[in-house]
Amino acid sequence: MKPKDTVVAVDIGGTTTKLALVDRQGTVECWQTFSTSGSNSESFVEKLLVAIRRLQAPSHGPVLGVSVALAGFVTADGTLEYNPNLPWLEGAPVAALLQRELGVPVHVESDSNAACAAEYVFGQGRDASRFLCLTGGTGLGVGMIVQGRLLRVAHGCIGDAGHVIVLAGGPRCSCGGRGCAEALLSTALLGQQYARESGEHGATFRTLVRDAQAGNAKAAEIIRQAGYWLGVAAASLSHILFPDRIAVAGGFRGQGPFCFKQPRNLFASTAESCRLRARRWSQRSPANMPL
Ligand SMILES: [Zn+2]
Repeated sequence: MKPKDTVVAVDIGGTTTKLALVDRQGTVECWQTFSTSGSNSESFVEKLLVAIRRLQAPSHGPVLGVSVALAGFVTADGTLEYNPNLPWLEGAPVAALLQRELGVPVHVESDSNAACAAEYVFGQGRDASRFLCLTGGTGLGVGMIVQGRLLRVAHGCIGDAGHVIVLAGGPRCSCGGRGCAEALLSTALLGQQYARESGEHGATFRTLVRDAQAGNAKAAEIIRQAGYWLGVAAASLSHILFPDRIAVAGGFRGQGPFCFKQPRNLFASTAESCRLRARRWSQRSPANMPL
């Protein structure tokens, strides 16, 4: 059977793994999810292979390849180098293991880069010259594309910009630090905070957003606070990266004014100083602009 113009797209997140059959236009033909739970890489890869083969069922035909977005630092050969949320998967050569079993090309990319590239090609980043994308989930992924190319500062990505400190001495983060943006914006932690404060056992980020939209004051306050920290993170990063467009993707996307009113307001208060600095900088040393 001739391969169809589709790939299997996989997103291995800290909590959930999502898979979809996707064509060149970004249309999702079918998808499925399973929990990213596990204690060792072998059993997880086995589970992932079963799920991929299900999507590659005879009715769908062979695919051109498999593209994997993986939370954490990923080496050029597709090995997970570091992710404190998935320590049992660290060191696993994910690309090589999948390619050996599936017999089609496999590309593994840091999920923050993958989300940024997807928004750049299909979504909010189209036509941007300097595009910054913040992706909310169990962790906070940050990626940037400058004139069509992913910015790779360290470990194949922009670095660990989700751990920019927005509240010195703030809550403990999975990285071992305190007050990182991720410690204040992780959707898993926000769900747990809501469960604690509302007494609603098992509450998740989805529950939190649903209740905030239904008018629950406690839920709305948690979302408002998260929006504030998202604005602080975006404004701080903008002084370094000078984006001409910022997108928010992942778990925060689609939550509308609940999530975005605060960051927009906060960002607006710093945007003018960003523009002034950019102008001064480019007038002073245009030849030295590195990007
Ligand atoms: Zn951190």
